[in-house]
Amino acid sequence: MMMALKKYSFLLLLLFFIFFHFYCFPIIPCAKASADIILIDPGHGGHDLGAIAKLNITAKSSPKKTTITILEKDLSLRLALLLREELQEKFTVYLTRLDDRYVSLEDRSSLADKVKATLFISLHFNSTADHTAQGIETYYLDNHQDKAVKKVEAIENAEISGTSPIVNHILIDLAIKMTTRASKDLAMLVHQASVSKIHQDKYPIKDRGYKPGLLYVLALSKRPGILIEGGFMSNSKELERIHSDSYLKSYAKGIAVGVKKFFEKKPPVLGGRGGAEKKKH
Ligand SMILES: [Zn+2]
Repeated sequence: MMMALKKYSFLLLLLFFIFFHFYCFPIIPCAKASADIILIDPGHGGHDLGAIAKLNITAKSSPKKTTITILEKDLSLRLALLLREELQEKFTVYLTRLDDRYVSLEDRSSLADKVKATLFISLHFNSTADHTAQGIETYYLDNHQDKAVKKVEAIENAEISGTSPIVNHILIDLAIKMTTRASKDLAMLVHQASVSKIHQDKYPIKDRGYKPGLLYVLALSKRPGILIEGGFMSNSKELERIHSDSYLKSYAKGIAVGVKKFFEKKPPVLGGRGGAEKKKH
């Protein structure tokens, strides 16, 4: 009898361990080394495909080339899942979507409030008519006069174009005052660490810098955040690289290094360029 009890209690313990290990996210937040919460936002999803590109690949089974369609919404989710793997040991990590579904910009940002996210990281890939354009860039919310950045904003803000420009203006101004200082620091650290890791892994990626952009998803999230454009899908060489698991893994590792440096350097602050207010946990 005692032996049977011991056997079953061991089995119960094993089942509990398996449940806790694999299913605690997102139902029960797992115990983490840091109290900080990262919300990763894979751009687009569902009927919102994002950028679309064709890629010629050689299948293992046949020497003939076949053409496949690559969608930004799939690439952003792949990068998001890899980034979660890199961050979840230290932080509590949530995603705005875990599969191919449409989530509005408002719903993405309200999730940031719901999970009390410390940081918001939105993942995207670029596309332009100039097929030679290449490289990676990291955006933080702030005003600017850069015409090239305005093109990126037109694409990533497209969903929200129907709402009042005055309301949008007020919202963005407020969000800039609250978050720009921390977001700029985060953008710098993540961008530098990503470029350094990707170069270290021998990918010849062009560094397009970290820069200000008026991106609604960052304004709506109302917390320090960045939007990453992880390469140009419109450049066939770059698309081949972006599509590979090894490149995305290298990129995810680089982003994670930058996020960890951000928290090591100082606690996140909410504050504009003029001053900072320490964020309460
Ligand atoms: Zn996008």
